[in-house]
Amino acid sequence: MGRAAESQNIGRHILLISDDPADRCLLEGALDELPDSQYDILHIESIEDACQLLSQQSFCTVLIDLDLADTLPVGSLPPALRSLTADLPVIALSNNADPEFAVEAIKHGAQDFLLRSETGHEQLYRVMRYAIERKKTERRLTWLAHFDALTELANRTLFTRRLDRSLLRHHRDKKGPAVVFLDLDGFKEVNDQFGHDAGDGLLKDVAQRLVGCVRASDTVARLGGDEFALLLDDASSFNAVISVAEKALASVAQPYRVVGQHVTISTSIGISMAPGGGETADELLKNADKALYRAKDSGKNTYQIYTDGMHSEMLQRLTLERDLRRALAREEFELFYQPIVDVETQTLLGAEALIRWYPGHGDCVVMPESFIGLAEETNLISSIGEWVFYTACSQAVAWRRAGLPAIRIGINLSARQFRGGGLTRMIRRTLDNVPVNASQIQLELTETMVMRDTLESSYILNELKAQGLKLAIDDFGTGYSSLSYLRDFPVDTLKIDRSFVRDMESNDDDAAITAAIIAMGHRLKKTIVAEGVETPGQLRILAEQGCDQVQGFLYSKPLRANDFAEFLGHHVSGNSPLIPRRLVAR
Ligand code: C2E
Ligand code: MG
Ligand code: MG
Repeated sequence: MGRAAESQNIGRHILLISDDPADRCLLEGALDELPDSQYDILHIESIEDACQLLSQQSFCTVLIDLDLADTLPVGSLPPALRSLTADLPVIALSNNADPEFAVEAIKHGAQDFLLRSETGHEQLYRVMRYAIERKKTERRLTWLAHFDALTELANRTLFTRRLDRSLLRHHRDKKGPAVVFLDLDGFKEVNDQFGHDAGDGLLKDVAQRLVGCVRASDTVARLGGDEFALLLDDASSFNAVISVAEKALASVAQPYRVVGQHVTISTSIGISMAPGGGETADELLKNADKALYRAKDSGKNTYQIYTDGMHSEMLQRLTLERDLRRALAREEFELFYQPIVDVETQTLLGAEALIRWYPGHGDCVVMPESFIGLAEETNLISSIGEWVFYTACSQAVAWRRAGLPAIRIGINLSARQFRGGGLTRMIRRTLDNVPVNASQIQLELTETMVMRDTLESSYILNELKAQGLKLAIDDFGTGYSSLSYLRDFPVDTLKIDRSFVRDMESNDDDAAITAAIIAMGHRLKKTIVAEGVETPGQLRILAEQGCDQVQGFLYSKPLRANDFAEFLGHHVSGNSPLIPRRLVAR
């Protein structure tokens, strides 16, 4: 309850519950004592009617005749009336002069007791004013015990009490509640720079914004200083809690007006969710606090979720998903290029574009195998895939404009991209915008991908071909065993998976497989590329078997675009120390 609600209860009407007409005269006389009376009287003769009225209308005070026939037990307010007047000053009137009777009336909820025979207008007026003031103070004290005076949000006591209640409610379904603990980043600087009044103003704004991030059934509290907490009572899943946390992050980060200036701050957030994140209010708050400190440690303006062992794997995934979602906007992806070399001539024919992720632009790299799967599950792959395609095509154009030879660029497609619809449209859009020669681009697909619905695949592949692109089957030999698709699909190149190349020097079976792939591929007029070539021995065997092209650490690891350009430049000038010409079996 905020202050607005608090003041709503204080109307200007006085309710008189009495069947004695003299009481009304007494009350009117008391009100006449006031030079400018702001009160009016509603006179009701039965408790029942009074209860109905109290439930519909607000009053500033209630006068009740305790001698009414239906007022039982002696001296006490009827229970229904008592609950309706819990927030109101009540003055009891009676003809009963027994002091015990008066005490009983006070004990049972009346603020004051007046003996009718001894009451004049003036006295009634005074008692009424006192009762109103006393009730106001009582109400204000109760409010202050549960709310924060500055922001009018719940305070820690009320937050904890509501959290306890929520835990009880959810005891059986074991779903939530969740605690979202916030601590503003850099609030001290605002206080230091603009003064405490300005700081207070900012805290009030933050409070309002946080209220806008949750549902009416949730609780927003200020726990002290610049610490806030949200109690999400019906948190159905971590995802739901995360979206509230993200909303809060975005909302707090909007600029504030502080003494005429724009100021921005952020917040760090720690999240705990029952039952894994704690089973009592105390545990949940403590664990959310621990997570909050991790959020501060990991650079602020972010959230962290408290994890026990049970949830950690799931949460790691969620965190990864969140970071991945932001990675594109923050330009954290980079394409590396790995040379593909002609076996016979040892000339550089092309490169495969391979994606890398540098979260937060730090030194730490995340390899595609750690995030492409998740990107596929969450359908982020379509936007990542579009970025890869666009970036690789633009790079090809940039190299050509820099006077470097127009080499072929291999671009990997993921299964979801292939089947998700919109692939050919995305490619057309990009090719319309980037002046790259389509035949310079080779899409790499896997066998499993194209074999799932061969009719659909055939349609898509033909459309891609019609746009002038080249097509390769990646990781060849590891997927579907039917080879009939090689006859039916318009594929140009087979890339032998590196698992066959790795042990081919010691394992005759592997060497036999590569030989078979090469022979078969050539009969079908496909170009054969061997992946993962690391040793001169592997290269020698592959050359003997007639493999057309190779790619692997023997030549080069995937390189940053600039390093690759240098590699390409050296190669054009015939001065390519990275290619071990002497190793080639002639
Ligand atoms: P891939 O398409 O088969 O790419 C070849 C992988 O083998 C690359 O791993 C490359 O770094 C690695 N490799 C190359 N030569 C050697 C070698 O001599 N020895 C060894 N041990 N490894 C070698 P990377 O970059 O980690 O990529 C892994 C996979 O991730 C790729 O396999 C591809 O399936 C996927 N991927 C990479 N970039 C993208 C992308 O932009 N989009 C999609 N959808 N998938 C991508
Ligand atoms: Mg590939
Ligand atoms: Mg491969």
